[in-house]
Amino acid sequence: MVKQLLQAQLAEAGIEVGNDLCEHFSLSRAQLFDVVRVSGIRTFSELLTTHGRGRGCDVCRPVAASILASLYQEHVLDGERAALQDTNDHVMANMQKDGTYSVVPRIPGGEVTPEGLIVIGEVAKDFGLYTKITGGQRIDLFGARIEQLPAIWSRLVDAGFESGHAYGKSLRTVKSCVGSTWCRFGVQDSVGLAIALELRYRGLRSPHKIKLGVSGCARECAEARGKDVGVIATDHGWNMYVGGNGGFTPRHAQLFAEDLTTEQLVRAIDRFLMYYVRTADRLQRTAPWVESVEGGIDAIRAVVLDDSLGIAADLDAAMDAHVGGYRDEWAATLEDPEKLRKFASFVNAPDVADPDLAYVPERGQKRPATAEERGVVIGGPTLPVRTAGGPL
Ligand code: SF4
Repeated sequence: MVKQLLQAQLAEAGIEVGNDLCEHFSLSRAQLFDVVRVSGIRTFSELLTTHGRGRGCDVCRPVAASILASLYQEHVLDGERAALQDTNDHVMANMQKDGTYSVVPRIPGGEVTPEGLIVIGEVAKDFGLYTKITGGQRIDLFGARIEQLPAIWSRLVDAGFESGHAYGKSLRTVKSCVGSTWCRFGVQDSVGLAIALELRYRGLRSPHKIKLGVSGCARECAEARGKDVGVIATDHGWNMYVGGNGGFTPRHAQLFAEDLTTEQLVRAIDRFLMYYVRTADRLQRTAPWVESVEGGIDAIRAVVLDDSLGIAADLDAAMDAHVGGYRDEWAATLEDPEKLRKFASFVNAPDVADPDLAYVPERGQKRPATAEERGVVIGGPTLPVRTAGGPL
């Protein structure tokens, strides 16, 4: 936000403001994406040598990792890519305030069998994890130590679960209501569509997280208009909305197309998402991206529905390549001893748990102990401070 304010003020003062990614690349994220796509470069080292300078930083390295993952569907921990990832991507889990991680298996469309629920419950019980239902209709397991992650995922993968990518700038969830299958008001199968969309876009790395929603009628129980792509059933098909989100600056998604068939809808979402992945700025969600595109939502609609730029076939092919190349990151990690070596609290004692972790019971589960509960002095010893008026 500070950067945006500064850039706006500089521009207002008549000073030219660049959109360079960082000091190592004189290119915007969108330009860097095109460079990688056109040149076929597959490593950060080559990208830096040919189009950048220096050694890279915490801005350009994760961006390059995301671009490479969007284009080539290779494992995020393969080769030098592992060192480019953010903290969460690096261990494929979300770090929490006490340094442990949370685990989120994918539950497409929020639909889960009793057997699946039992497995998740047993895993949580056996590893002593705190469980909570998330806003995205899935189950978050908190308090896993880094060395426990492979064992936890081994149990989940064996039961048919896969990574939910809760840690990635990528598709998170497709929320849905029960739709025509159960609801008296439903006019379309919202759960079936939500599952199909989640399985299609899972693992798609993007400039920021992506959330979708599908409601089975205009009553909108899935809150689809609060999502990057929202779908609402009509008597004739599906209405598609884009550019919604919650968070810091909540936005309602805008109507993009009406009464689409399922096939038309899926292609429109394919192109919308792939166009966003290619041209958005770093950490820019769809709502500000739609605003930033010259011509706004009308121009994006023309690209997606009328192929105004002549790139529709290219966008379609890119999405087909993503769908065809998808593989669960955690299942692949469990098969690779080299990748598994990263999951240790201490490199010189890989099987030793962090002894500083402390928990207290609350509402039948555990939570991290506060500083008072641990009896730990966080501030350290008091030091004498001299002021103008004499010692305090
Ligand atoms: S959005 Fe419509 S179909 Fe879905 S649960 Fe609500 S009332 Fe039922």
